[in-house]
Amino acid sequence: MLEVRDLSVRYRETIALSNISFEINRGTVVGLIGPNGAGKSTLLKSMLGLIPNQEGQVFYNQQFLKQQCQKVAYLPQRSQIDWDYPVTVWNVVMMARINHQPWWRMGGASRRSQEIVQEALARVELDNLRDRPIKQLSGGQQQRVFLARAIAQQADLLLLDEPFTAIDKKTESLMWQIYEELKQAGKTLLISCHEWGETLDRYDHLLLLNHCLIASGTPRQVLTPEHIQLAYGSPDVINLAGRSPQAATDAEEFMFC
Ligand code: ADP
Ligand code: MG
Repeated sequence: MLEVRDLSVRYRETIALSNISFEINRGTVVGLIGPNGAGKSTLLKSMLGLIPNQEGQVFYNQQFLKQQCQKVAYLPQRSQIDWDYPVTVWNVVMMARINHQPWWRMGGASRRSQEIVQEALARVELDNLRDRPIKQLSGGQQQRVFLARAIAQQADLLLLDEPFTAIDKKTESLMWQIYEELKQAGKTLLISCHEWGETLDRYDHLLLLNHCLIASGTPRQVLTPEHIQLAYGSPDVINLAGRSPQAATDAEEFMFC
């Protein structure tokens, strides 16, 4: 189980996150939603201890998460990746295996690691592009390369920052199939997204963020007009998502800032 306790982050004068606390069960797909600048990327990075000015604790199975980083696969937001870096598809995915190599094999990947990378690339339907530099791929293909890297890492917890950005419908549907498979295998996925759509119903649990945690629960519990108003300043976003405000009146479990 993943537990975030009183997490706060400050960038100089900006308070990016304020006392965030929540728990996530194993084997769930969790959506982290909120407007641009709400602190979604900051939350994912701070869970890994990547931000200097942070307070609070993050536990995974009752132990500090940052001491178990090999169990976490992290997909950075698209804008934070240098897509011009001269590296092939194969080598991006192989990076996931570095921590799995014994020290005496650091010069070359083991046969097992090569098989795992091959299987991950086949799963995202990119094995035919393995020798391409990543900068020559489309947005959807690039996102699939990083998903393959997360699969090859064989992590228990996947933190994915806006994986649906710049992708086509086919890639989105493939990604959801893979997320379901990972969930069935007992993995836990925390996926940030700022765009609204029908897919919000596919999450087992939602976290609605705007610097503080506005609500945490099932999509039905979280997507109430009151919560949306608090996060976005207008309940109209709820209608953009194609749902009726009445559909969520039975909210039971939520947390206000
Ligand atoms: P989101 O991912 O939800 O769009 P971010 O986590 O990127 O939000 O940003 C949250 C807030 O922190 C924003 O106000 C943003 O401007 C600020 N911020 C993010 N990164 C930095 C940084 N490296 N230095 C200063 N401020 C930052
Ligand atoms: Mg972000």
